[in-house]
Amino acid sequence: MPRRPRVVRDYPLAIGNLKALLDGCAKKLDDPDLRTKVIALIPAVYGVRDLGSSLIPREEASAARDRILYYFQKYPLTLIEGDELLVISGIGEWARRLRELRVQQGWWIFSGVTFREMLSAEPEQEADLKQALLVDPASIKPDQYVLMRVEQDRDAAYRWNTLNGIRRKNIGVKEKLLEYFRANVGRVISGEELRYLAKNKKEWARRSRELRTQSGWPVVTRQQGRPDLPIGSYLLEEDRQSHEHDRTISDAVRVEVLERDKFACRVCGWKREQANKDDPRRLLELHHVQEHVKGGKNDAENLLTLCNVHHDEVHADRLDLSPYL
Ligand SMILES: [Zn+2]
Ligand SMILES: [Zn+2]
Repeated sequence: MPRRPRVVRDYPLAIGNLKALLDGCAKKLDDPDLRTKVIALIPAVYGVRDLGSSLIPREEASAARDRILYYFQKYPLTLIEGDELLVISGIGEWARRLRELRVQQGWWIFSGVTFREMLSAEPEQEADLKQALLVDPASIKPDQYVLMRVEQDRDAAYRWNTLNGIRRKNIGVKEKLLEYFRANVGRVISGEELRYLAKNKKEWARRSRELRTQSGWPVVTRQQGRPDLPIGSYLLEEDRQSHEHDRTISDAVRVEVLERDKFACRVCGWKREQANKDDPRRLLELHHVQEHVKGGKNDAENLLTLCNVHHDEVHADRLDLSPYL
């Protein structure tokens, strides 16, 4: 079998070598035996790869994975084709290196598939994505990739073990998501990570949303009054499920109520930006004025925004809301 040629970092020389290799194999391509022709082409294939991997100076990035990262960092928020990564990494296994960067090392590299699944469950994120990438999100192809944050998410490396432990469990996607969120209260988690947790089952996005809209877990995105969160991220604000009768609220109604109440508790005016560790007020919740089960409507008129402290007061019958309606 032909040996893989030595990596060359001098383009004219590398191209010269490649031409010589191609000339050499051109003769063998007349051979009637298919296998002889295949084997003749191998050095030329490696020659092209070596040329691709030599585009980044070795002192900048010597390993294939480093070259992939270097390339993404040079073009953040830009749609990169898988074939570009094949060229720049110079290896056929670039997809595995990419996965290591994404899930193990905490680089927020999203794939077109993940965006597609996220947007089908959270269409409100489309405008933000369009603004960030300057393309129509509908035009993103499944095998394109984007570095969404320039800084590394160093916590992701710590989350990695928890992630894998839960991923391997024989439980439904929604249960896995909830367990992972509860293990990471207050930490920003990427959609890419949740998709991996769900073993790439596309329901991850819809289930994440259901945890909020149906089960009353405060799993938020940028759209629920947290513009500080990165695009494509999810966060469980508190390990606390809302009161049973406040659980089924659609996102459209939720956002309508929060905006109407200017993202502040209707009793005390507390806003999330005022949060500090000495204050028991930590999150905003929605409360049905007339209980949903007793015929109260699930619309904005029957809902109001409360901080967790005043919400608990109301449910403990220690606070009369009538002056605040
Ligand atoms: Zn309050
Ligand atoms: Zn309530």
